[in-house]
Amino acid sequence: MGTLVSVVVPCYNEAAVIDATYQRLTTVMDSLSASKDVDYELVFVNDGSQDQTLSLLQGFHASHPKGRGQVVVVCLARNFGHQVALSAGLEIARGDAVVAIDADLQDPPEVIEEMYQRYLDGADVAYGLRNQRPGDGVFKWAATRVFYRLLSRITRVDIPLDTGDFRLINRRVLDVLNSMPERHRYIRGMVPWVGFRQEPVSYDRDRRHSGESKYSYSRLFGLAFEGITSFSHTPLRLAYIIGFVVALFCLIYGGFVVATVLIQGSTDGIKGWASMMVAITFLGSVQLITLGLLGDYIGRIYDEVKRRPLYVVNDDQSRLPPDPTPRG
Ligand code: UDP
Ligand code: MG
Repeated sequence: MGTLVSVVVPCYNEAAVIDATYQRLTTVMDSLSASKDVDYELVFVNDGSQDQTLSLLQGFHASHPKGRGQVVVVCLARNFGHQVALSAGLEIARGDAVVAIDADLQDPPEVIEEMYQRYLDGADVAYGLRNQRPGDGVFKWAATRVFYRLLSRITRVDIPLDTGDFRLINRRVLDVLNSMPERHRYIRGMVPWVGFRQEPVSYDRDRRHSGESKYSYSRLFGLAFEGITSFSHTPLRLAYIIGFVVALFCLIYGGFVVATVLIQGSTDGIKGWASMMVAITFLGSVQLITLGLLGDYIGRIYDEVKRRPLYVVNDDQSRLPPDPTPRG
């Protein structure tokens, strides 16, 4: 058989849509395997779902027609979050080329064909580039846009704008990715970090097929913050920058005060309550914010040095391939 292609799908409470996802993925991969002589595996990672997702996945594993690829189910012991679930799938996937895709059909599986073509043409990574995001609302759209621009300005890795985790990665990039030990994972930033030949494949992002987005605004904000702090030390320099600006301001103001004393003999006539309050509260909050930022980086160091495993697999409920050693 030719190349093995793995498709990794993290699933958290996706019972409403997972059957449709499975059907569409199978259709796409069957046609790919017919036209390009590829073998495939669908790696579903159940990220501690509380609904019927797991039993549906196990059903796919059992009923998947023989000789046309296979369905692998990885069941995590609890909800570990999207990025960790995806990491688990990427580690278990054995493919020469591995595709990461969301379970909710927002990323159309048909795009995989084009990604695979890029892979054949020699690209190491083919990443999905979103044209538009219907159904996300203007605010989410604008926020995402601003965030990606900000991120690429303050980090040294060139993280492509408007990409999610939908991408195809070949074995040599995947091996590097899997060997990256960090506990705080931001995969859409880690893949560009690796380098090699990475090419965009643009597509229109669909509305979520059904069910709800698992990312609330606060989680989205968390992910954004994660992206910034794991790729940049710039926030740590914030204290410097603000400190210098305020020092400059103080110098000018100090000159003004000295001049007043020299000219008027004293500063007794100047009322100062309001400006004093503003200065104190402003500097107080700046100090608290920078302290919080420091704390964030320290917490991150703490999480890394604990060296806990990234995720825990529940073997009893997983349907892993018989031979767990990676190919090749
Ligand atoms: N997901 C997961 N664990 C979580 C949250 C989400 O595995 O804790 C999966 C989810 O099932 C989906 C993908 O991650 O396949 C993206 O989630 P979602 O569609 O909710 O995110 P959005 O598209 O709104 O960014
Ligand atoms: Mg989604």
